[in-house]
Amino acid sequence: LTPVITIDGPSGSGKGTIARLVADRLGFRLLDSGALYRLTALAALEREADLTDEATLTEIAAGLDIRFELRDGETAAVLGGRDVSRDIRMEEVSMAASKVAAMPGVRAALLQRQRDFRQPPGLVADGRDMGTTVFPDAPVKVFLTASAEERARRRYEQLREKGVSVSLRDLLEDIRARDARDMNRETSPLAPAEDAVELDSTGVDIDDVLQRVLQLVHE
Ligand code: C5P
Repeated sequence: LTPVITIDGPSGSGKGTIARLVADRLGFRLLDSGALYRLTALAALEREADLTDEATLTEIAAGLDIRFELRDGETAAVLGGRDVSRDIRMEEVSMAASKVAAMPGVRAALLQRQRDFRQPPGLVADGRDMGTTVFPDAPVKVFLTASAEERARRRYEQLREKGVSVSLRDLLEDIRARDARDMNRETSPLAPAEDAVELDSTGVDIDDVLQRVLQLVHE
């Protein structure tokens, strides 16, 4: 069976960065599962769908025409032929994504799509429920955390680099709201798999986290 390394955790924990670095090092494919929820949310917003209507959102998730393409060394999310990589990172889409992700129908519609990414020589899967629901048999599972304050600060720096000005306090509030929704939902709430190794990246250099994950892979 093709190996999978799952990296789960809350938004801003650094799991996206770590997942990409681990995939690069090992020459594995990468699944950014959050992008699938974001693409579902973007498609729903563009169609002006009712974000509380599970049947419609499930249909949208099931019918998404998406591709991930390597462009200029970065993975682009392509929806219906359009590069929407930037659109899916907008704050409005983040919020909508966490709402649609709470719907069991949407999660079920995206399940097989996620499993299809498991192809030789291996996969690094980044998300919330990679180790618990999508790839429960993964040989290496990591649960990456960081304090809400640190995650808000990282997001703040990222946005500032892009020239976006936001208040740190608003970001912290957004992160707490999203955490609460991700952890308290009934379907696949954010929680470490029983056999996951928990790593706290608060105040830890990204390279040290990477080394620790690679160590787990080689154990
Ligand atoms: O990781 P990212 O912030 O891109 O994920 C966007 C949203 O999708 C999250 O707020 C979360 O609610 C949801 N998500 C999820 N399960 C995953 C990945 C993301 O519910 N495996």
